[in-house]
Amino acid sequence: MRIGIGNDIHRLIEGRPLILGGVEIPYSKGEDAHSDGDVLVHAIIDAILGACAKGDIGTLFPPSDERYKDADSLQLLKQAVEYTGARIINIDSSITLEEPKLRPYITAMRERIAEVLSIDIDRVSIKAKTNEGLDETGKGNAISAIAVVLVEN
Ligand code: MG
Repeated sequence: MRIGIGNDIHRLIEGRPLILGGVEIPYSKGEDAHSDGDVLVHAIIDAILGACAKGDIGTLFPPSDERYKDADSLQLLKQAVEYTGARIINIDSSITLEEPKLRPYITAMRERIAEVLSIDIDRVSIKAKTNEGLDETGKGNAISAIAVVLVEN
């Protein structure tokens, strides 16, 4: 058994979709990123790579590589797991954003991630909270996520 931690942050800008856990959330802004900007999945990828001591997302999927332009982060997650050969025991994660409220979308996000990883949905935990108006995240200019993953490797 090995444990890993991952975190990520993206600016929120107009004219971009807000993708979290592979689910498009209706909102006026989305993540500014080379890929689809799925901040939650990026944190999970880094946690898995970290658990296996296999580097980080930027090394495995360089932003300078045009193959990853607007990439579906769930596919990157799948590739990262295949790369490590790890079996995911469970994931816990937390997203911080000021708005919109994510509660209606949490189950769909858990389903998408569990499906990609071929694990039960009860092994994927996703929480959401605001930053109480503090810092750039609290002003609605950024979104961040943190994830912890236990793997068997
Ligand atoms: Mg990212």
